[in-house]
Amino acid sequence: MKVNRRHSIAALIGLAVAALLIWGIKDEERQPKQEHFHNQGKVFGTYYNIRYLASQDLEPEIQKAFTDFDNSLSLFNPHSILSAVNDNRNPVTDSAFEAMWSEAEEVYTLSGGAFDITVAPLVNYWGFGRTQSTDRSADRIQTDIDSLRKFVGFDKVELIDHHVYKAHPNVQIDAGAVAKGQACDMIASVLRAHGVEHFLIDIGGEIVTQGEREPGEPWRVGITKPNLNNEGAQQELQQVLALRNSCMATSGNYRNYYYADGERRSHTIDPRTGYPVQHSVLSATVVSSSCMRADALATACMVLGAEQALHMIDRAKDAACYLIVAQNDSLTVVQSPNWEETITK
Ligand code: AMP
Ligand code: MG
Repeated sequence: MKVNRRHSIAALIGLAVAALLIWGIKDEERQPKQEHFHNQGKVFGTYYNIRYLASQDLEPEIQKAFTDFDNSLSLFNPHSILSAVNDNRNPVTDSAFEAMWSEAEEVYTLSGGAFDITVAPLVNYWGFGRTQSTDRSADRIQTDIDSLRKFVGFDKVELIDHHVYKAHPNVQIDAGAVAKGQACDMIASVLRAHGVEHFLIDIGGEIVTQGEREPGEPWRVGITKPNLNNEGAQQELQQVLALRNSCMATSGNYRNYYYADGERRSHTIDPRTGYPVQHSVLSATVVSSSCMRADALATACMVLGAEQALHMIDRAKDAACYLIVAQNDSLTVVQSPNWEETITK
């Protein structure tokens, strides 16, 4: 009797082990295989590079997010909400537009007006928007700027109940200083919604990273070294950062500028003066809690100059910056005291 009982217990254990093994195999079969994907191409007049570990290629979802974003915030899409606001067609704003607006408002305040999305008429005037500038005399420029500045200022616009109200129909909005960063955040949401844990999103140099490139290997992202003597493509790196969970954006005067009347005109405009900024900060890299915020703060750093930029980053509470500054004939780095600890988090 005892022997039989032992036999049946052993048989039961055997059956349980077999069931677990079969269950294990089935479970493995059920788990889709993960692969490394790399989607790349052109979007919003720049490039994108998206790398991620997933069980399926998410390019169609990414393209859909780009289209949605373009329909909301593109200056170059005549059917976008932003174009409708600029053309005084009184559109209903969507969540992407409203997220851009509240970040723009916050950074406008943090920067004391140095960052201002109503800078559009001045951006166009200086030839970086939809229209091109021609050379003009200094007096003529001053007169033009004085009249354009009447339409510039975040205090001249309001967003109430999904509608934008302007103090004057000539007030125009330019979301170019936040859009790429915001698009990175949106793609990060798309990837997370599909269960992706490891990714790097790069849209025109604005970056969101999460997880790791390979187990134990962080993502590696370079900060370009500005080289004012070499006007061609810029490849040399100032620093390579090892990132895990980061949102990072870089603004650089060396990236988008032209020469006119013997001076270099950058695409960052100081809305308080109406002129392109001309100081020694060549590039500003900011890490923050979202890429949209990092993008806005990086542009604001370029307008403010090194000293004021450090104060603003301190006030922002959730940001760190790395500025490359021209000093005589060499480059120096000015970084916020929390830079190292922020990027190694
Ligand atoms: P970014 O490359 O992110 O620094 O953005 C530069 C773009 O932001 C320019 O091409 C303009 O469209 C816009 N912009 C220029 N100056 C300002 C400013 N002071 N505040 C907000 N946006 C600006
Ligand atoms: Mg920016």
